Amino acid sequence: MYDLYPKDEGVLIVCEEGGLARTSDLIKVLGLIHRLELRETHRLITNIAGGLRVNSNPLCFKYYRVRSLFITGIDTQIAYFMKQISLLLPFGVNAMKKILVLLVWYIYSSSAVFAKGFDDEFERFKKTASAKDMYTFLYALPKGADLHNHSTGSNRAEWWYEESIKQAKNGYVYYTKTTINNCKGYGTNEFSRTPYLLLFVNIQEFEYKKLSDCEQGEYSRLQDLSAEQKQAWLNSIRLDKAHEGRNEFFQTHWTRLNTLLANPFMQANLIVKNMRAFGQEGLTYLETDAGVKGYLYPDGSDYAPEDVYQIYVERFAQQDALDTGVTVRLQYALLRFTEHAEDVLQWVYEFVATHKALFVAVDMVGREDNDKGHPLRFLPTLRALRHRHHGVNLSIHAGESDEPNRHIRDTLLLGASRIGHGVNLTGDGDTLLLMRYNQYLIEVNLISNLLLEYVDDYRQHPFPEYLRLGIPVALSTDDRGMWDSNMTDEYFTAVSNFNLSWQEIVTIGANSLRHSFLDDKTKTRLLNNYYQRIAAFETAFQNKKMAALTDVKPVSYSFACKQFKLCDFFVAE
Ligand SMILES: [Zn+2]
Repeated sequence: MYDLYPKDEGVLIVCEEGGLARTSDLIKVLGLIHRLELRETHRLITNIAGGLRVNSNPLCFKYYRVRSLFITGIDTQIAYFMKQISLLLPFGVNAMKKILVLLVWYIYSSSAVFAKGFDDEFERFKKTASAKDMYTFLYALPKGADLHNHSTGSNRAEWWYEESIKQAKNGYVYYTKTTINNCKGYGTNEFSRTPYLLLFVNIQEFEYKKLSDCEQGEYSRLQDLSAEQKQAWLNSIRLDKAHEGRNEFFQTHWTRLNTLLANPFMQANLIVKNMRAFGQEGLTYLETDAGVKGYLYPDGSDYAPEDVYQIYVERFAQQDALDTGVTVRLQYALLRFTEHAEDVLQWVYEFVATHKALFVAVDMVGREDNDKGHPLRFLPTLRALRHRHHGVNLSIHAGESDEPNRHIRDTLLLGASRIGHGVNLTGDGDTLLLMRYNQYLIEVNLISNLLLEYVDDYRQHPFPEYLRLGIPVALSTDDRGMWDSNMTDEYFTAVSNFNLSWQEIVTIGANSLRHSFLDDKTKTRLLNNYYQRIAAFETAFQNKKMAALTDVKPVSYSFACKQFKLCDFFVAE
């Protein structure tokens, strides 16, 4: 029993002589053993993958999937658990004396029983691996999901450029502002949403045709850019310079993308491009945000939301999307600080509730230093919506902030199951305690937090605190296109700054699938697959070391070059 070395997933099989074990008995047993209140134990059990299922084994009538109870120190907990059970049985504690509890760790399949030695293997590897070897190892590492991903911010600048030009086949022709001829004179609209003096703002042909001759002279078609202009265009939508940070990102990147955000075919194609890149990095699930409103035909008329939805459905069903090996679902994100955000929330929530085949959650985004979007503003709206709709998950940005505040607590009160960023949780002790060993996942975005200046360096980042205090965490990429990075960069950052153990790495990946908003069946399938891939990876690496990874050709981008000095080894696709 103790030679088995499960990580953080197991199945508790409960058998009773001659009858069914009652849920209440199980709760009592677990409650006693773990010294948890019954209420707490019950919550854990009922939250565990829907609780009860019928087992085909005639000796065992029911089993309960156990996750949270055994997240850390599994082997010692098993020993402790078994000892307690054996102590309890002779004393005949009411119904418990009739219960034979078999704790069977099987991690979904026998092939996924882990070799205990891999923790040591990984510790040895960390001590001796070059940066290149570590990057190769982490690129090949089987991963789970990216749960915090903004589809438009996730597109690399090169992808935007290529795809924008290809969209001529759908009738879309794009122009970008390459010079300023003072067509509008002095004192224009610098603080509007589309300031005149901003370069590399993209417009469609129908908008271009409405401009004066002077202003038309300021724009070039994307395909006509000189090499220098093209490079500047690419750099205009990523944080490539030391002085660029939060303000550049929030105030200019989206303004520049402008009408590129309004083409549903490009949107769907670029999500598939992300799926392909993530699949090559070993991910199997992408939960990204994308909406259905605000899309335009080439002539500038509006797309109906249902038609945009259909474009997504059809695109993701195409063979090249399926071939990525990455399952995709969408969240619907809304800007939280706008004047009519409650109305938007209501529309979005109802749309998600009625399009669950693809949309799994609602997100709220936007700078948290704009207090007009504070979380509790939306509590009455969400309460009213919960009266009418079921099955809408909430994953909301909170705690992406420089100051201590109660945004995370208030966001949990809104009903969020997952918190995006959660950087300032350490400033709210009560909420931090609430989240330990609980069901709320924090989507951690290490690179985003650094580049958007929520931490000055990783010594300030709370991620290891959360991880090692038992708060569920997963790594995610946020707007990786604008950092020009990938998921491997997140893992590399975590391993090199926080000395992650192998168990921690495996748990982070498992968390990303377990806390996804997938249906149970798909989630179980992806988790099974994850553990199998991890087991195979361990075996291969244990047998052949780096020779097991000779076929791995990592793809990395400019972030890895700048931050990790890994410039010469890998070629961006
Ligand atoms: Zn985000």
